[in-house]
Amino acid sequence: MKIYRLFNKLSRPRSYAGRILLICFFGTHVPLITFVLWILLANPSLGGEHWDDLLVLLLATLAGTGLTFLLVNGMLAPVRVVARALGDYRQNKQVPALPRGLSDEAGYMLEQVQDAIEELDLTLTNLARAAETDPLTEVGNRRWLVSRAEEQIARAQRNQSPICAILFDLDRFKAINDQHGHAKGDAVLVGVARFVKSGLQSSHLFARTGGEEFCIVLPNTPLNGAVEVARRIQEGLATRSIARLTPGLVTASFGVVERDPDERDLSALLRRADDLLYQAKNDGRNQVATSALA
Ligand code: GH3
Ligand code: MG
Ligand code: MG
Repeated sequence: MKIYRLFNKLSRPRSYAGRILLICFFGTHVPLITFVLWILLANPSLGGEHWDDLLVLLLATLAGTGLTFLLVNGMLAPVRVVARALGDYRQNKQVPALPRGLSDEAGYMLEQVQDAIEELDLTLTNLARAAETDPLTEVGNRRWLVSRAEEQIARAQRNQSPICAILFDLDRFKAINDQHGHAKGDAVLVGVARFVKSGLQSSHLFARTGGEEFCIVLPNTPLNGAVEVARRIQEGLATRSIARLTPGLVTASFGVVERDPDERDLSALLRRADDLLYQAKNDGRNQVATSALA
């Protein structure tokens, strides 16, 4: 890198291609000029006779220099392409399609940069997904729900459309863990998540928000629609075998709310849903509690 750094200090030429051309220029012109001077100094009388030869030499040198400039510039294209690809990825997360199978060092650089960006992109995508996914049930986690729900709440506010939240918590789950073991408890959480997910629409946002607590956000849904969804899940859970346990052993209590016009974030909805969930627990569990339907 020493020679590169040295040339980098030059104020002109500023471009990489220009600096390489400067090196080429020295490489060809120093011997050429030395040769011409040598001829002229050694045999001054020859100068007059050979002006036409010298002119041909000058024109050939100019043509050669122009061609060299074009070719050097073309040969440096991989450096520019790689710099642009890295910049595009950093700014727009755009994965490039750099050429493969080229044999020299520049071809190797293109291939390595392409592989590195593809690997980085895959790793970042996987990390982002992992950061927003509950590893046990593979549904979204609270972080994912909050970010996605905020968008939907903002849209509901803009469009004056209804949006609801269902919060539910498994009943006496500690007893299931105690009686059947923690692994069975985990299997119940997986089974509940799978069952609930199978009955939801793609627009519904479903997440595990705590140990045995789940939440569903339902865009464009009025309160009676959300209550219907909650009742279907509550009855479904209470009547089927989850994780091969006796039907009726796994139940849940639900709190269902519709967004009030002044509620601007999910936490405001969840506070009210949590109060209703608490009420459902107090009223005997395995039921849906909601604010009065309009
Ligand atoms: P309630 O009906 O009032 O909700 O009673 P509960 O027993 O469900 O509630 P409690 O808060 O007393 O207990 C929740 C239990 O959930 C305790 C905790 O060990 C268990 N739990 C939390 N996360 C997990 C998990 O990932 N796997 C398993 N197997 N159990 C979990
Ligand atoms: Mg519970
Ligand atoms: Mg709980």
